[in-house]
Amino acid sequence: MAEGRNVLVTGGNRGIGLCIARAFADAGDNVVITHRSGEPPEGLRGVTCDVTDTASVDAAFTAAEELLGGPVEVLVANAGVTKDQLLMRMSDEEFDTVIDTNLAGAFRCARRASKGMIRLRRGRIVLISSVVGLYGSPGQANYAASKSGLVGLARSITRELGGRGITANVVAPGFIETDMTAALPEERRKQYLASIPAGRFATPEEVAAAVRFVASDEAAYISGAVIPVDGGLGMGH
Ligand code: NDP
Repeated sequence: MAEGRNVLVTGGNRGIGLCIARAFADAGDNVVITHRSGEPPEGLRGVTCDVTDTASVDAAFTAAEELLGGPVEVLVANAGVTKDQLLMRMSDEEFDTVIDTNLAGAFRCARRASKGMIRLRRGRIVLISSVVGLYGSPGQANYAASKSGLVGLARSITRELGGRGITANVVAPGFIETDMTAALPEERRKQYLASIPAGRFATPEEVAAAVRFVASDEAAYISGAVIPVDGGLGMGH
């Protein structure tokens, strides 16, 4: 895989996904993002996709392959949601929606992407998890379960498709400088920062750099790995 690879980033219309998509595009790759509604961000091509719907995922890949002129070689499964609630108050709907989007959504995309990758005998699957997946977080039983599930998914894909030039890895960001973290009350922000050895939140660009690395030719022998981008917050987990 040289430059100019075909890259699909789910949920690439905003946030971390957008930053990842721009990083690939800036490096000369052919990028398509998925978005649920509206228009794709300026300068990027997009296809509509709801990752909770198999038909929508299949149609999005078909449309992306048409735009890209070939199969997706790098899949970044980034689309994700939170529906935080304490365990005893968490509804089935809150649990199911988060699992269906974050875990089953990544599965649907990886399954569809694998078809083209197997034919090409190369591919990179990068699943965006979270430090919370292995560290846990009160009020996020649904989210943590969905994010740790991605580890089993990546490792099973590795055992199944590792012999065909395909890698599957998990990138697990910690706290990232986003609108969400900017809006935190000062006291809460200080508490979080005190638990992070790096003493600061990460930039989305630092997440994108790790994603680009595991998607690179140089990372051909890295598969089934969990790459933390968390300033040391979750180390050992
Ligand atoms: P945002 O909330 O900014 O963006 C989420 C993206 O996922 C949006 O593009 C959204 O689309 C898309 N999405 C949500 N549900 C679906 C769906 N059913 N089908 C298709 N797309 C969907 O999130 P972030 O950028 O903050 O997070 C991106 C990823 O990084 C997530 O997986 C998140 O769990 C993970 N992460 C984030 C951290 C952080 O600090 N922000 C820390 C650790 C991990 P739409 O615009 O249509 O809603």
